[in-house]
Amino acid sequence: MKTKRPLKKGKVRLRRKGILFIVSGPSGAGKTTLYKEVALALPNLKHSVSFTTRPPRPGEVNDRDYTFISRDEFKEMIDKGEFVEWAEIHGELYGTSKKRLEEIMDSGFDVILDIDTQGAMQLKEKYKGGVYIFVLTPSMEVLKERLRKRMANSKEEIEKRLKGAVEEIKKYREYDYVIVNNVFEDAFKELEAIIISHRVSTKRVDLGWIEKNF
Ligand code: 5GP
Repeated sequence: MKTKRPLKKGKVRLRRKGILFIVSGPSGAGKTTLYKEVALALPNLKHSVSFTTRPPRPGEVNDRDYTFISRDEFKEMIDKGEFVEWAEIHGELYGTSKKRLEEIMDSGFDVILDIDTQGAMQLKEKYKGGVYIFVLTPSMEVLKERLRKRMANSKEEIEKRLKGAVEEIKKYREYDYVIVNNVFEDAFKELEAIIISHRVSTKRVDLGWIEKNF
């Protein structure tokens, strides 16, 4: 049986199951840095590490940034129904493990996922209570510039990502919130505010606790 985490003095437990926050947006919008910073800043929020077939980039650590696996291993996981969602992006496979996601949510932590729009739309079917957040750059020009900086040597790769970005952006209407990542600190505050406000929503709090105590 799972035990509840002890509460700090003066704190009350108002929620039960964790909330699922889904962050999407074009590559270069800065969503990865955003969600990582917010996950560090806010207590009770965890990122579910995705599986991918793409090779690690310099500095990336297995099981921290992604779990890096082969295409065969990924396909085996699909066959076994181990993903809540998965997608092919720029020729590589990416997926969220059902087990990892539910373990975090069942332990009362909120989860933040950084996934593409294809994956987010699959989750919408399965997790009705999910909160969908779309991150954008202030303009197409800024997006191009950020991609150029990130992929200094690969014009082809930039073109591929830009095309993908335009397709991604078209899906913004499916999301509950849009954050324009112009000044990082502002975008950070906006994401933090969205998470905090959902935590105290009456839909999420344990009303039984209020009934019992008042
Ligand atoms: P990158 O290769 O630059 O780390 O990520 C490429 C894209 O894959 C990003 O848009 C990111 O949001 C998306 N992505 C990362 N993990 C997952 C996942 O588990 N599922 C889906 N559908 N997309 C993911």
